[in-house]
Amino acid sequence: MDDGIHIEGLSKRYGEGDTAVDALKEVNMRIAPGEVVGLVGPSGSGKTTLLKCLGAVIEPTRGRMTLGGEVIYDSAQGGWKTPDLRALRRDRIGFIFQAPYLIPFLDVTDNVALLPMLAGRANAPSRARALELLQALDVAHRAKAQPSELSGGEQQRVSIARALANQPPVILADEPTAPLDSERALAVMRILNQMASQYQTAIIVVTHDEKIIPTFKRIYHIRDGRTVEEAGEGRDIS
Ligand code: ADP
Ligand code: MG
Repeated sequence: MDDGIHIEGLSKRYGEGDTAVDALKEVNMRIAPGEVVGLVGPSGSGKTTLLKCLGAVIEPTRGRMTLGGEVIYDSAQGGWKTPDLRALRRDRIGFIFQAPYLIPFLDVTDNVALLPMLAGRANAPSRARALELLQALDVAHRAKAQPSELSGGEQQRVSIARALANQPPVILADEPTAPLDSERALAVMRILNQMASQYQTAIIVVTHDEKIIPTFKRIYHIRDGRTVEEAGEGRDIS
């Protein structure tokens, strides 16, 4: 078994010939179940490209990717290993973006229950699971509210609950704390760390937010498509 996230020799070239851009150059990363790592680098360093490859949104040029014990891509064996990339994205990967992107005409519970329902789970257990996550994230009292009635921090917590709804082995978060003040940004990191250990999720947080960088135990710095691993401060935020 090779649980969590395992990336080996991952390369991505955009375009061809003179104008080709090598956005990722043989990147290696390993994130264990229950671990939260930071991916930090300047603009244009390849962060989004890496998340898009892992999220099966674009196809790498070379390398191997394993998610939750399953090889999803191996260029030495014909590329994508899963027949249904849409199901992979829906069921095995949770995405958290900078903006919460809640669906305005669904209440909070159904925003969280929607993905399990789309994955074919019955409505009642999907809603029960949604409520359990909303409780864990301390927003269960807003379960019947519309997204527009929530504060920004509450909306972000609902979007985290949604990312966890299908209990994905992997969560990819792109700048999840950028719009938040220091206290709320640290609260989001506390929640992600709790969720990672509670559900044994492997989490990558793309960020250049100085407020949260000291919270990571391990950081991958990315520059010009190459990653370097470094121990983080791992500041206690429990
Ligand atoms: P970051 O998210 O760290 O800002 P990106 O992954 O978006 O970096 O980009 C990495 C490099 O790849 C940059 O040089 C960027 O210009 C280039 N790039 C990104 N997307 C494309 C694309 N669709 N076509 C060509 N080049 C791209
Ligand atoms: Mg980017």
